[in-house]
Amino acid sequence: MTTLITNIGELVTNDPEADDPLGIVEQAALLIDGRTIAWVGRADEAPAADQQVDAGGRAVLPGFVDSHSHLVFAGDRAPEFAARMAGEPYAAGGIRTTVAATRAATDEQLTAHVARLVQEMRRQGTTTVEIKSGYGLTVHDEARSLAVARQFTEETTFLGAHVVPDGDADEYVALVTGPMLEAAAPHARWVDAFCETGAFDADQARTVLGAGVAAGLRPRLHANQLGHGPGVRLAAELGLTAVDHCTYLTDDDVAALRDSGTIATLLPGVEFSTRQPYPDARSLLDAGVAIALASDCNPGSCFTSSMPLCIALAVREMGMTPAEAVAAATAGGAAALGRDDVGALVPGRRADLVVLDAPTHVHLAYRPGVPLVAQTWVEGRPA
Ligand SMILES: [Zn+2]
Repeated sequence: MTTLITNIGELVTNDPEADDPLGIVEQAALLIDGRTIAWVGRADEAPAADQQVDAGGRAVLPGFVDSHSHLVFAGDRAPEFAARMAGEPYAAGGIRTTVAATRAATDEQLTAHVARLVQEMRRQGTTTVEIKSGYGLTVHDEARSLAVARQFTEETTFLGAHVVPDGDADEYVALVTGPMLEAAAPHARWVDAFCETGAFDADQARTVLGAGVAAGLRPRLHANQLGHGPGVRLAAELGLTAVDHCTYLTDDDVAALRDSGTIATLLPGVEFSTRQPYPDARSLLDAGVAIALASDCNPGSCFTSSMPLCIALAVREMGMTPAEAVAAATAGGAAALGRDDVGALVPGRRADLVVLDAPTHVHLAYRPGVPLVAQTWVEGRPA
């Protein structure tokens, strides 16, 4: 079964071979064969298809790849947000309130909650999402959190090293790298740690990632969110695919990222929701560091599921152009997950795409807060 989407006013392909960064084709069409892209080009040169969809001159772009989220949780922290907006600072320890609610929830409750959030993301154009554990923090609760996440995505991340729930940090790291990892690994693709004052130091993070790699998982890291620290340099030293947050960076940190080729995943919804300064995307890009944008959707520091909001914030607050922000939210997220089957609309890739109620991708930043996603297609079908 082939479907031709035609009369596309602006098609963002992210074609790596194209001259402009987004690989834009105007007056375009796109042929889907089953679940994948079979052809892209000018509408007047399009091949025949079993069925045809008229995009009405609107923009079509790759589905957003949200490479960082924490969707498996229970409970609500709206009062903490309101208190923060009244002047209280954000601290890593707030995670513990979500941990208590998550442990008390049934698998069915957690699954229903993730389903609701994934559906919310779909409506806003996200077609690939990474989901972390990290609100269970016991062997049983981390394993079941990941089993819940696996029902929705292949991109699951074991984040037992989110915060020390109670007791001694080194004893907890031994639990994370021992029985908890053993129970979690069958449900996870990635291992992650929160390397931050109040969470885990660089040695502990190194231990956790090393154990995860030995168990067959791929490493990633939360680093330099709340202040300067060793996390970003550790990520560069270990040659991680991506390191996430990167809000407080020294010149040495930026040079280390450039030299290692580690992608900086920026999460501007966090700074929006915590009133912290935004990461300096402009100087990272100018230094030659690749950037991904992601939501970090979580109940504490950032409860948005909206990639369009992240794009608007990246443009307005972080010095990115609309084209750079859209690339970072699509191809950038795919690269941060080590994926070459999503993030671009070129033959052979998954037919994951967004139809915007707008003539150009620029409207994602130009019209912030407006629900511009008209349709989200996942693997060749409207979702
Ligand atoms: Zn996070």
